[in-house]
Amino acid sequence: MQKIKKVCVYCASSDKIHPKYFEATDKLAKVLAKNNITVVYGGGARGLMGQLADTVLRERGRIIGIMPRFMREVEFHHKDVNEFIFTADMHERKKQFMVGVDALITLPGGCGTFEELMEAITLKRLGLFVKPIVILNIDGYYDPLIQMLERAIDNNFMRSEHKNIWTVFENPESVLEAIQKSPPWSKSAINIAQV
Ligand code: AMP
Repeated sequence: MQKIKKVCVYCASSDKIHPKYFEATDKLAKVLAKNNITVVYGGGARGLMGQLADTVLRERGRIIGIMPRFMREVEFHHKDVNEFIFTADMHERKKQFMVGVDALITLPGGCGTFEELMEAITLKRLGLFVKPIVILNIDGYYDPLIQMLERAIDNNFMRSEHKNIWTVFENPESVLEAIQKSPPWSKSAINIAQV
């Protein structure tokens, strides 16, 4: 696989979560910054988004926030990130997250993070996005979601090949390995999109 230069990280906006999630985010951000990987994220200043940006900046890495304008108006945005892209709406933001990235990383989060992950999985199923999608499953947080995806496969809502769309890993420090070990994918996935 070619060198990883840019990744997008989907993660929580909530501050009221267990410290273990902040610790994992901090570790992940350190690995990305140390490897000179540009990070694209939702632009938030709080929760795991805030932790991600703070650590990347502290480690002198590069981070780009992408946020719809209405969120800027209510001051959701992180004030110090290197670059900001403000989009017309949530749909354009999700589209922008995927532009030019070498991988998508999903940390724990709520409905916003789930939505971003599910859209990415759906686009990959259709061959419209072909890069690795890795899920950082801290302390089994994502077990029910992964089980649901597997259940969809077991019940023929998806094909067994679709299991190769995402890769689950547990240790934030293994993120590069998880990305590199992700099964290859191509636009021809459209031919197996249907069950
Ligand atoms: P969640 O995983 O539900 O916390 O969702 C994260 C997503 O929620 C982000 O990508 C945004 O779409 C949205 N969001 C909610 N609150 C904020 C916030 N304070 N700052 C930035 N984005 C937010």
